[in-house]
Amino acid sequence: MSTKAKFQAIRGTRDLLPPETALWNSVEQTAHEVFGRFGYGEIRVPIFEPTDLFARAVGGNTDIVSKEMYSFPDPPIWLEILEKVGTIKDVDRTENTFSIKDNLSNRSFMAEILSLRPEATASVCRAYIENNMQQLPQPVKLYYLGPMFRRERPQKGRYRQFYQIGAEVLGGTDAPTIDAELLEMLMSFFAKLNLSGTTLDINSIGHSADNCRRGYVAKLKSELEKVKDKLGSDSQRRIDTNPLRVLDSKLEHEQPIIANLPKIADHLCDDCRAHYTEVKRHLDLRGVKYRENWRLVRGLDYYMRTTFEIIAQGLGSQNAVCGGGRYDGLVELLGGPPTKGIGFAIGEDRLILSLLEAGQSPQAASRSELIYIAWMGQNAYTTAIRAAQTLRAAGFRVELPPVELKFGKALERADKLGARHALILGDNELASGEWTLKTLADGSQQKLTAQALLEYLRKL
Ligand code: AMP
Repeated sequence: MSTKAKFQAIRGTRDLLPPETALWNSVEQTAHEVFGRFGYGEIRVPIFEPTDLFARAVGGNTDIVSKEMYSFPDPPIWLEILEKVGTIKDVDRTENTFSIKDNLSNRSFMAEILSLRPEATASVCRAYIENNMQQLPQPVKLYYLGPMFRRERPQKGRYRQFYQIGAEVLGGTDAPTIDAELLEMLMSFFAKLNLSGTTLDINSIGHSADNCRRGYVAKLKSELEKVKDKLGSDSQRRIDTNPLRVLDSKLEHEQPIIANLPKIADHLCDDCRAHYTEVKRHLDLRGVKYRENWRLVRGLDYYMRTTFEIIAQGLGSQNAVCGGGRYDGLVELLGGPPTKGIGFAIGEDRLILSLLEAGQSPQAASRSELIYIAWMGQNAYTTAIRAAQTLRAAGFRVELPPVELKFGKALERADKLGARHALILGDNELASGEWTLKTLADGSQQKLTAQALLEYLRKL
């Protein structure tokens, strides 16, 4: 027996396998269709970017940037870097471990630090600037799908490589109709997937000015100081680092305290309040149902005004399937012109979990019925190749076994693969020009010419 260690997927990553991948494909296809109908075009941005891009956009003191990014120097000179800060004594490459000696070496090195993307909004904004998209008719409406990477503690619905489907509207106006239409598109996407039981929570977190969010945060902070002793350690720490995040707390004993804290809606400036009122009116106009949730603050620094989150059923504690909001200053922060912006990101892994939980079967998502070609003899194989080509061109799924099988074995295999029909091609069929089609469910058989076979299958 081999003693070689087996490889395993890295913690927090996983393989997506058939038949479940059929469900992933149909979700992604629905995104292409629904977003396309709202005038969005697909953008594909790189998987890795300079770490600085995410640090600046997402915010240096967020968990994502401070401890969850997968970063590496390019060129990949970890060993030299480690030599510079300490010196590597033993490098055991087979174990991927090394220990460090503390005498400094004089070697110098140059490397850019890159990161696997933890989200895509920063990249989309970078692409908007880099490709001069501000010269296109505004706003520019883009969507993306793909993997993101965050070194979080893995659990159900939370992975280190996970997938997002997102959209961004950049440039032009910040009219509340844009926010409302984006949310309408999002909810029609979930409706198209037959994902019932989703709730849309919305809020406005104003803009960063003394007469708006900054004033509110100061007030919140002073109220939190008064109840500090009663809060847990996380919330106590957040009073200084990010008081808004205290509102996110799920701790049971903090809930009555949070319920009595000042609410941002009472502290919005006139413009932000008017914007929020209009967003709600336009959601009503479009028949989009929502709940106002004054505690919804979102984790990322760049949000302002409209923020939202969508909760789905069957997901336990990780039940947010989508988050997003307005981020009017972000493009400018990344070196572009002043640009309005709003967007969302759907957690595709959680969306799929919720669909499976609701009983949507991955099998149902895979299209047509399978036809298994049971061929016997080399002459029949030539005919079988032609038959497979014709049937596949006509849109059928066809399994053509690569080696000849005994008749009974072939039918057994067809059954195991879930085929509905077996097309039997042997000497008799070749001689008569009439092929045998067996319906596996009831064992019935019929003889058909190639043309009649196609017509028969098409009518099913
Ligand atoms: P965010 O980019 O943090 O606003 O997240 C948007 C959505 O992505 C969330 O609502 C989740 O559905 C999903 N998401 C975020 N982090 C993870 C993760 N580690 N694993 C799976 N899904 C995630």
